[in-house]
Amino acid sequence: MIIETRWIISTIRMLLGRYYNWKLLIHDNHKINPMLNIVLFGPPGAGKGTQSEKLIEKYSLKHLSTGDILRAAIQKQTPLGLEAKRIIDKGELVPDETVIGLIAKELDANKNVKGFIFDGFPRTTLQAQKLDEMLTSKGIAITMMMALVVDHQELVKRLLNRGLISARSDDQNVDIIENRIKVYNDYTKVVADYYKEQNKYKAVDGMGEIDEIFERLCTTIKEYQKD
Ligand code: ADP
Repeated sequence: MIIETRWIISTIRMLLGRYYNWKLLIHDNHKINPMLNIVLFGPPGAGKGTQSEKLIEKYSLKHLSTGDILRAAIQKQTPLGLEAKRIIDKGELVPDETVIGLIAKELDANKNVKGFIFDGFPRTTLQAQKLDEMLTSKGIAITMMMALVVDHQELVKRLLNRGLISARSDDQNVDIIENRIKVYNDYTKVVADYYKEQNKYKAVDGMGEIDEIFERLCTTIKEYQKD
């Protein structure tokens, strides 16, 4: 009888301890870890790059864009760049292990920053799981995912407009653009569920003027920090 009671008490203690740790990890993470680590999410053309530029300035964050890193490799014509170009020009996804390796390198190279904005990464659930593993091993965590919501027609319009002024070959052809949006709907959209399960998902209206969308993002961050 005494042994049973002790067992019940120690089980309850263990469960309470687990619950407390889970609560700290999921809900109160920003109180024990002041870093602001944002996944800026959304389909191609949602405005992730534009808004990242503004967010990194306001919050002094480090911008990690896998698209930018891959384009730099393409420009330098490294073996990785040449392989990536072939894939990007079709509007497909570069293999998970390639982009995970690129992000791992960046995390190691940026140890003393106030936080990161992940732009274009994670794009698959495996990438999201690996990102969590990499961050956990460094004692940090994703603060939240902010997802820019923009309708299909507007995405195509924005990308074709960007294609007129940028050198991005993947922005210049409507079939490639449509394929990128399809790949997003088939493989990437589901990554939002991963963060919803962790209670870290926030949808933000991505239609309208750049500055008003930026205000919405800042308000979302402020509300989170107030909690
Ligand atoms: P977009 O403006 O379409 O969101 P990005 O600049 O983020 O595009 O990326 C351009 C291309 O680089 C993508 O279409 C894809 O081929 C490749 N890419 C970028 N990030 C990733 C990733 N995390 N996983 C796989 N492929 C990626």
